[in-house]
Amino acid sequence: MRTTVGIIGAGPAGLLLARLLHNAGIDSVVLESRDRAYVERRQRAGILEQGTVDVLRAAGAGERMDREGLRHDGIELRFDRTRHRVDFPALTGGKSVMVYAQTEVCKDLIALQIEEGGPLLFEAEALAVEGADTDTPRIRFRHQGAEDVLECDYVVGCDGFWGVARRAIPAELSRTFERTYPFGWLGILADAAPSHDELVYARHDRGFALLSMRSPSVSRLYLQVPEGTDAEAWSDEEIWDELERRFETADDWRLERGPITQKSVTPMRSFVHEPMRHGRLFLAGDAAHIVPPTGAKGLNLAVGDVVTFARALVHRRETGSAELLDAYSATCLRRVWQAERFSYDMTTLLHRAPDATPFDDRLQVARLRRIASSRAAETDLAEAYTGFPVG
Ligand SMILES: Cc1cc2nc3c(=O)[nH]c(=O)nc-3n(C[C@H](O)[C@H](O)[C@H](O)COP(=O)(O)OP(=O)(O)OC[C@H]3O[C@@H](n4cnc5c(N)ncnc54)[C@H](O)[C@@H]3O)c2cc1C
Repeated sequence: MRTTVGIIGAGPAGLLLARLLHNAGIDSVVLESRDRAYVERRQRAGILEQGTVDVLRAAGAGERMDREGLRHDGIELRFDRTRHRVDFPALTGGKSVMVYAQTEVCKDLIALQIEEGGPLLFEAEALAVEGADTDTPRIRFRHQGAEDVLECDYVVGCDGFWGVARRAIPAELSRTFERTYPFGWLGILADAAPSHDELVYARHDRGFALLSMRSPSVSRLYLQVPEGTDAEAWSDEEIWDELERRFETADDWRLERGPITQKSVTPMRSFVHEPMRHGRLFLAGDAAHIVPPTGAKGLNLAVGDVVTFARALVHRRETGSAELLDAYSATCLRRVWQAERFSYDMTTLLHRAPDATPFDDRLQVARLRRIASSRAAETDLAEAYTGFPVG
């Protein structure tokens, strides 16, 4: 099998890249180790930055998002039983975000790829990337019980944190930067109307809580829990009681309860692999970097990477110059580190570390009050939340 761009992984990064390349008349093959149903069901991110929304629309993948997604013009910060709304358009010159689940983005892109795009092979597991530093890189993979080889001009590893692509970069050329946090998020999906029409980020002495939503009838809620917590150790009632405590306000706001349909715990990690390119192998999305979900940046970073790669490849075809491909890693990493900084800031602003002292508690509240009282501080948050420019 032969193609111009071999893509490993059909998460948001791999699927969007295949779409962008298809639109530019460049052929690709996507290899995905899981089956279609699994990829379409995997609950993860839900906030699309303005730039991501624009990219999906321009790629012809925004029709259902525009119909069913929920445009959000702000978030609420909740601390000390008070509420403060951050108004995105007023602070950023008109930007907003879209609540539209990653599962739906993936479903839309898969449907388009199958109807119009190149091959997308499910249950095709990449085993190794070979010859990354040659002009003829290859992906060795297993599909339907048989091993095969995909010969490529370029390989893009969109295979997430646990994928194989990153391993093809020699250790002596790699640097990793990492931080793990001593807590995770217990996330639930519930058949309950969202109790607020925008996301609520709550800082509480018992820990962080986030109110989010998937649709007008489905809530997505999170609780900070100790690292290593088993989701099943929490009964549904305990979860609702704890959410109620952490979201409590001095006014008559009430939390809407409903049947919990899914529960899971997400660990929190910051991770960056440098460089994001080795020869003709490019890493994109979680394969190269992870952010804690507090800043809602993971999916949006993945989108930025593949847009940067697609532009660079089109530039190469149109001008013969590899300058943008050569600059890929540095270009992406500038944006990645801004997202790492923001995600870290949001995480340390809102979560209570197990060893937090009363001094740390006061500092957190002072930082939140600063955001609530200074337009400059609030603008900084709004600009980062609605997204950094790609490129
Ligand atoms: C549990 C969880 C919850 C999250 N919640 C949020 C959130 O609330 N907000 C937020 O912004 N971000 C969140 N994220 C992060 C966000 O979902 C990711 O940043 C995003 O999925 C990155 O997309 P990706 O395409 O780079 O990687 P992925 O979505 O991980 O896709 C990688 C794909 O590669 C496939 N693959 C792996 N290995 C191979 C192989 N050897 N061969 C072939 N295919 C392979 C995988 O099956 C997968 O389909 C969450 C992540 C996780 C894990």
